[in-house]
Amino acid sequence: MNIGILIIGNELTSGMTQDTNSSFMARELYEQGWSVSAVMTVGDDRNAIRGGLDYLMGISDALVVAGGLGPTADDITTTAVAGAFGLDLYIDEAVLKQLKERFDRVGIPWTENNAKQAIFPEEAGIIDNPVGTACGFLLDRDGSPVAVIPGVPAEARKMFSDGVIPLFRDKIAYREHVAKRTIKTFGRTESQIDQALSHEDLEIPGVSIGFYPRFPEIHLVVTSRGEDRGRAEENLRVVCERIEGQLYSYIFGYDDDTMEGVAAALLTDRELTLSVAESCTGGLITDRLTDVPGSSVFLERGVVTYSNTSKVELLGVPASTIEKYGVVSEEAAILMAEGVKKLAGTDIGLSTTGIAGPAGGTEEKPVGTVFIALSAGKGTTCRRFLFRWDRRRIKEISSQIALNMLRRFLVEGDGLT
Ligand code: AMP
Ligand code: MG
Repeated sequence: MNIGILIIGNELTSGMTQDTNSSFMARELYEQGWSVSAVMTVGDDRNAIRGGLDYLMGISDALVVAGGLGPTADDITTTAVAGAFGLDLYIDEAVLKQLKERFDRVGIPWTENNAKQAIFPEEAGIIDNPVGTACGFLLDRDGSPVAVIPGVPAEARKMFSDGVIPLFRDKIAYREHVAKRTIKTFGRTESQIDQALSHEDLEIPGVSIGFYPRFPEIHLVVTSRGEDRGRAEENLRVVCERIEGQLYSYIFGYDDDTMEGVAAALLTDRELTLSVAESCTGGLITDRLTDVPGSSVFLERGVVTYSNTSKVELLGVPASTIEKYGVVSEEAAILMAEGVKKLAGTDIGLSTTGIAGPAGGTEEKPVGTVFIALSAGKGTTCRRFLFRWDRRRIKEISSQIALNMLRRFLVEGDGLT
């Protein structure tokens, strides 16, 4: 079951506007168990629209066309589609009346060019637009449905989900069941994951695995399709289990999970409290943790101790330590984590200190050097990293590693000396 998507608009072919409609529609179609044969973008041009329709009809069982239904002269989709299919146009009096009433209601003066939005190809079924003024329409081409909707994203999305999908469901008998799971990993590169997975037999009919890097994470989307729902779900379960067998602790969550959400849930479950002392991450760890509802249960405080003085005054790191080892050092990171834990009276203390650059690096500690420490009970662990990215990415990956250290400590209880 293949569906073609035709996107129409000069704003898109000129690069002024980025097409977001096709990716939305493709995702929705995929979820329904249908496939997209091709996505094509053409300008507001009769020949290009005709060519696009011809091509897509040739390789598809159904078509969605979006864009160019507005009132202005450059919107020609209705007449172009009618022309391409050899259909006459008519004015739908009911739609025209509704349009005029709508203008009256909101107090916008009626202009004649709006009547254009009541013109449809003969034989068209009208698709309601609950969000805007331009209705869409549905045609039947020798049993293949062709749906035409406006391009304004809010309207396109609503009409596609509420109008087009149900209409397609009525017209298209064949659907596959789709079972999907996103496995979220951190700490391994794409090629390392690929290598690890090469040890497993993941070739099960109907199951595909996609790699989606979302810095600094890599997500694996496992999709299982089949005519039988139970079989599709069982295949998904088997493949996910085999992936888990290879990636184990590099997997931090599934589907909508976030690193901070997973760490927060573990802290809450174990009834442990946390305090954070951040230097190079500038509060990002605390920011992420406080995105999680209920974080006040475990988070006692997060302090941004950016200057040397603040590390001395707020965390009790001895000035002599900073002088001797440097503020970006294992010793400083450890004392920061221990200091904030002690002062806040929490079970766990977490700290970061590093050189985000572009200045401030030395030969021994180049830009991108970051120390992250976790203190719990009597033990403290510290890890050193060297990152080669810009400031923002260094902050992001440092906060991610800190949260992941916390997660792994809570799951495995390891790493403390
Ligand atoms: P139209 O339906 O062609 O009158 O489109 C109205 C407005 O919606 C355009 O000016 C664009 O800003 C926006 N738009 C149209 N098509 C798309 C699309 N595929 N993706 C994102 N925005 C779009
Ligand atoms: Mg347009």
